[in-house]
Amino acid sequence: MKEYDVIVIGGGPAGATVATLLADKGHEVLLFERDHFPRFKIGESLMPGTYWTLQRLGIWDKMKKSVFPQKNSVQFYHKSGRAGAPFYFKENEPEERAQTWQVLRSEFDKLMLENAAEKGATVQHGVQVLDVLLEGDTATGVRAKMADKSVQEFRAKVVVDASGQSTLLARKLNILETEPDLKNAAIYSHFKGAVRDCGIDGGATIIMHTREADSWFWYIPLPNDVVSVGVVGNINYLLLDRDKGPQAIFDEELAKCDALIPRIRDAEQLFPVKTQKEFSYKANRISGNGWVLIGDAYGFLDPIYSSGIFLAMKSGELAADTISEALRVGDLSQEKLGSFAPHYLQGVEAIRKLVYAFYNKDFSFGAFLKQFPECKNEIISILVGNVFNEDVSRLFDSMEQMIEIPG
Ligand SMILES: Cc1cc2nc3c(=O)[nH]c(=O)nc-3n(C[C@H](O)[C@H](O)[C@H](O)COP(=O)(O)OP(=O)(O)OC[C@H]3O[C@@H](n4cnc5c(N)ncnc54)[C@H](O)[C@@H]3O)c2cc1C
Repeated sequence: MKEYDVIVIGGGPAGATVATLLADKGHEVLLFERDHFPRFKIGESLMPGTYWTLQRLGIWDKMKKSVFPQKNSVQFYHKSGRAGAPFYFKENEPEERAQTWQVLRSEFDKLMLENAAEKGATVQHGVQVLDVLLEGDTATGVRAKMADKSVQEFRAKVVVDASGQSTLLARKLNILETEPDLKNAAIYSHFKGAVRDCGIDGGATIIMHTREADSWFWYIPLPNDVVSVGVVGNINYLLLDRDKGPQAIFDEELAKCDALIPRIRDAEQLFPVKTQKEFSYKANRISGNGWVLIGDAYGFLDPIYSSGIFLAMKSGELAADTISEALRVGDLSQEKLGSFAPHYLQGVEAIRKLVYAFYNKDFSFGAFLKQFPECKNEIISILVGNVFNEDVSRLFDSMEQMIEIPG
């Protein structure tokens, strides 16, 4: 049977990134995507730190020509409805990297995956990987249900799981751990004709707390006068302890969000709300012999800072370089394939700490910056995604004088 260099499971941002970069380096890559693109997906706000990966993938110029709204800042609203000062990326970043985009995932993911095929990866849609084949503890390929419903096996030197929240391989190996204090859920939809800010603020991500800060809303402007709006809160508070459907819960939370009410009062909801839960977890290993986990298939923190796509692409990029080197020297061991982990996890940890700060009811960015104004740059650095090469530890030294952050 033919043996590929790499099989990638899933064609989201993580899978598309790793497949593009490996194919570009001349490796034989086969990618299976279960869905036919374009398909709906939530998670629409990029971080400016995607700049470097978008450049390497060769699609920065296509993004610049796209109709996606430009995102120049993130703004937080206090539970009282008071607006905090926006965190403008340009305060830290040179002009070209001081903005990013709010994307329609149907179009962005399609663009990314088409690019992988253009760079030489074999991309097959409508193929569901059923299992990763293991010989002992070494991955040797996958079993997949093809578009014609036949079941076939494929062999590869390295299997990359980029299956997102399906976490195919981590589930099989039983290595998933939930984030104990981030048991959150989300309810969301799209709205047409909502109030948008003007000028540089027109594409900002806005985060608005509800009155008791038991939940928060995201407000993400998209093309064609559409805005993505979703509410996030502890799963018990939001879903389990209420005897109501998700639309009624969404409306109830909206009524508690003074900053959001006037923005979407006259807007048209475009589809019945969707719900997502149990999305914060990570695997306790990022690699094994012949396999690597990237993007959400390795772990997902929380939607609050829009870090998901950034981390998916970053892990795809780091994994691609590591796998290419591993194939070159013929060492496909767990240690070699996971050698990017310390660098990657150090960056994830900075975001994780800021996530925990946000959910601490004694914390607000406004109050924190009043006490520690010198930390503003570090906060912007994290919102930008400068977590891999910049030291942001001073921020948490200061924060820990105010609140406890789980280690
Ligand atoms: C409520 C919510 C809001 C979010 N908001 C944001 C945001 O604003 N900004 C942001 O950056 N991130 C956000 N995220 C996170 C973001 O959507 C993800 O982190 C990102 O999509 C991860 O990319 P990925 O490539 O790892 O996985 P995915 O994008 O999920 O891609 C995985 C792909 O694998 C395919 N697949 C799954 N199983 C199989 C299989 N067995 N065989 C073949 N194919 C398979 C799927 O069809 C899918 O296309 C949000 C997440 C949630 C839950």
